[in-house]
Amino acid sequence: MSHPKLFIPGPVEVSAKTYEAFCRPMVGHRSKAFQELYAAVQPGLQTLFGTRQPVFLCTGSAWCVMEAAIRNLVRQKVLVCMSGAFSDKWFDVALKCGKAAEKLQVEWGRAIKPEAVREALARGGFDAVTLIHNETSTGTMNPLREIAAVVREFPDVILITDVVSSFTVVPTPFDDLGADVMLAGVQKALALPPGAAVFTVSERAFARATEVKDRGYYMDFVEFKKNAESNMTPTTPSISHLYALQSKVDDILTEGLEARYARHAVTNQMVRSWAVANGFEMFPEPGYESVSLTCIRNNREVDVAAVAQWMKTHANIVIDQGYGKVKGKTFRLSNMGDENEATVGALLSAMDRALAALA
Ligand SMILES: *Cc1c(COP(=O)(O)O)cnc(C)c1O
Repeated sequence: MSHPKLFIPGPVEVSAKTYEAFCRPMVGHRSKAFQELYAAVQPGLQTLFGTRQPVFLCTGSAWCVMEAAIRNLVRQKVLVCMSGAFSDKWFDVALKCGKAAEKLQVEWGRAIKPEAVREALARGGFDAVTLIHNETSTGTMNPLREIAAVVREFPDVILITDVVSSFTVVPTPFDDLGADVMLAGVQKALALPPGAAVFTVSERAFARATEVKDRGYYMDFVEFKKNAESNMTPTTPSISHLYALQSKVDDILTEGLEARYARHAVTNQMVRSWAVANGFEMFPEPGYESVSLTCIRNNREVDVAAVAQWMKTHANIVIDQGYGKVKGKTFRLSNMGDENEATVGALLSAMDRALAALA
């Protein structure tokens, strides 16, 4: 029997082609073969990020880079935009790194507004902002472009953006936005096995990093930059991830970025329409719904755990029962990665059967 298919918002289903790439034989990480592999993936990754800066491979999950950005770049105080589980946690992480941090917090499901960011930064004392573009726990997409424009009104403020669950789902052009760090884990929108992250850093941020003490070693941005000049990583990386990334970047550029964005928009709309047709409401504030996943408010008060169990048993599909404090009050269906109209259609017809069976 085939494995249960993941429609949770990460990790998501990994294609046979990606697994095959992941399992290729090893090369030495200081070998010419590695340097060639690294160099071969660079242009594609730069296209996906919309940048001329080098794109780095981190052997660690997204949090590795999220923490590193704080350690490398915050001297004075970081403004943490908080609107859900991941963005809320970034505040604690900043404190654990020994940095001064302040909250810009909204209720789960609400979006961060550019005016609020401007108001906070205008009070002064900040030298960095953290922003999660797509807050996966609440299925809410923040207005990245507008917020980035506001941060750029403050030349000394570094903008750290997490695009973990929006990368290649919607455009997030790094250079154009004027962001300073952009990072993505690989097990969400890129549909790779978990365990690595990709990120890019602006010249302004490199300059800042050189002035910050206690950057540590493993995730020192300056070390990454130095090693990238010879197409290498500071430490032995997950070479398997680099193979898988090469395969995935090829897939994405073959499909075409615009077609990929359009595919996500269509499949996401299918899920939203299904939810509304079945009497459910969206959890996010109207106008800020994610395109990567749908966080559905359980206003019908169905037994979410029972629905998830039915899906697993009868459809061999895993859905998410809601994150943290909104578990059961919401549930989430992902359309990230390789999903298309046929596979999302199959998910939704299984959901129909589940709701009918449990009615
Ligand atoms: C999943 C996720 C993370 C954390 O990823 P890890 O791989 O667990 O480190 C961070 N930010 C967002 C938006 C996420 O969806």
